[in-house]
Amino acid sequence: MSAVNIMVDEIPTAASLERKTCAHEECSCLAAIDNDYCDSYCETAQDQHQSRDGCGCGHPDCANC
Ligand SMILES: [Zn+2]
Ligand SMILES: [Zn+2]
Repeated sequence: MSAVNIMVDEIPTAASLERKTCAHEECSCLAAIDNDYCDSYCETAQDQHQSRDGCGCGHPDCANC
């Protein structure tokens, strides 16, 4: 039993060009394909108007975390 979980769930395709950035004001991530936000974290944070430095989604590619 050597379970190694490698997350390869999003391979960039031509469709990725259509993706918009996260709707969270502070977030610079790309939104999920089927969502206005990059993550449920941003969706919740925006909805609750949580204010803090940066968006806090924690994504390594986010410029504002
Ligand atoms: Zn972010
Ligand atoms: Zn976000």
